[in-house]
Amino acid sequence: MTKPRKRTTPRRREDPPPSPPADTPGPSTLAVHAGEPRLKPGHAVATPIIQTSTFTFEDTQEIKDHFDGKIERVEYGRYGNWTQRVAETKLAALEGAGDCLLFASGMAAMTTALFAMLSRGTHVVVTDDSYRRTRQFLNQTLHRYGIEVSTVPAGDYEAMEDAIRPTTRVLLSESPTNPYNRVLDLERFAEIGRRHRVKTVIDGTFATPYNQRPLEWGVDLVMHSATKYLGGHNDLMAGAVLGSREIVDGVRNLQGITGAVVSPFVAFLLVRGLKTFALRMERHNTSAQAIAEFLAAHPKVSAVHYAGLTSHPEHDVAKRQMRGFGGVVSFEVKGDLDAASRVVDSCRIPYIAISLGGVESLVEQPAIMSFYELTTEERLAIGIKDNLIRYSVGIEDAADLIADLAQALDHAFA
Ligand code: PLP
Repeated sequence: MTKPRKRTTPRRREDPPPSPPADTPGPSTLAVHAGEPRLKPGHAVATPIIQTSTFTFEDTQEIKDHFDGKIERVEYGRYGNWTQRVAETKLAALEGAGDCLLFASGMAAMTTALFAMLSRGTHVVVTDDSYRRTRQFLNQTLHRYGIEVSTVPAGDYEAMEDAIRPTTRVLLSESPTNPYNRVLDLERFAEIGRRHRVKTVIDGTFATPYNQRPLEWGVDLVMHSATKYLGGHNDLMAGAVLGSREIVDGVRNLQGITGAVVSPFVAFLLVRGLKTFALRMERHNTSAQAIAEFLAAHPKVSAVHYAGLTSHPEHDVAKRQMRGFGGVVSFEVKGDLDAASRVVDSCRIPYIAISLGGVESLVEQPAIMSFYELTTEERLAIGIKDNLIRYSVGIEDAADLIADLAQALDHAFA
């Protein structure tokens, strides 16, 4: 005889989700829980990968209700996906943004957002130290579409204001910048934008919303290469745009046409990576600070570019607006291109690779990696020194990374 099955009271679908409990949850609680329905498909705890290119409708009325804005749902993979929406809602909560939109890469986010905000005859002001492909997009691609660009030194707010024209639509900067870790006074930047009715955009890839939330300082739009700290494991490519629903909707409309969307699998990896986001960032911050201090005291190092050092030109601004100073330490060795290469080649723990923000430490020499085809003079003209090394501090033990750097410097200068 079969035993009668024990009956349980089913939870009603409309029961309020019991967590997260706090009024203003901290970054770790948000990273784990935000954006996640308590009741997921299949009663899963982990966010499932909804691997589908299109979505079914019950009947024609549901299609009409969807297009009339009476119900919120997705219709086709280029316009969104369930797994992607979880990742976006989580990131929006972490950033304190009205909405978030994910892309296939950081550059897809940057280029689509700028195309959505600009048109022929308009003008952009950008600060000078920034990711090389962003510079190329601004100075080469946008130029071909009749959009003009002025570049001003990072930290020179008078030059920024002087560069603004009646046709200026966007003020753009990284903060901290790549590779020199310059830090913008976000409040001042946002105020200049508001006064001139120009939208302000910050590429916050180096900081992440754990260390800095530019929207709280009045910035209009934040973008990230989610390939870096947000994914955190050197195993995915993604980008994010965050801001008010209105601005993000404008970018979403263009993404629906241009199509640089994030795949459900990548969105899943991002959600998974974000679970440990706050833990990872804390470790990146403390280890990078220790490494920056070690390098600053080393006799073979001539300069260290890290906002956590009191010698950094914007240390006070950084302290005011950042929780921590991030995991990238850029430094110059006392020597030439070859001396810096010897240091890179002598490191045993970090991989020699482009990119940053993952659990594995990475090291690279910008003159050899990203700017290889330029001459020393051309590189210097855009501020890239031959003896510069960019070190992305992973989550290995800081003592091991320091010991490794010490032996690499000894070996390179023996
Ligand atoms: N912004 C910054 C500051 C970056 O460092 C990078 C890449 O290194 C990007 C944007 C572009 O991101 P992705 O490589 O995901 O396209």
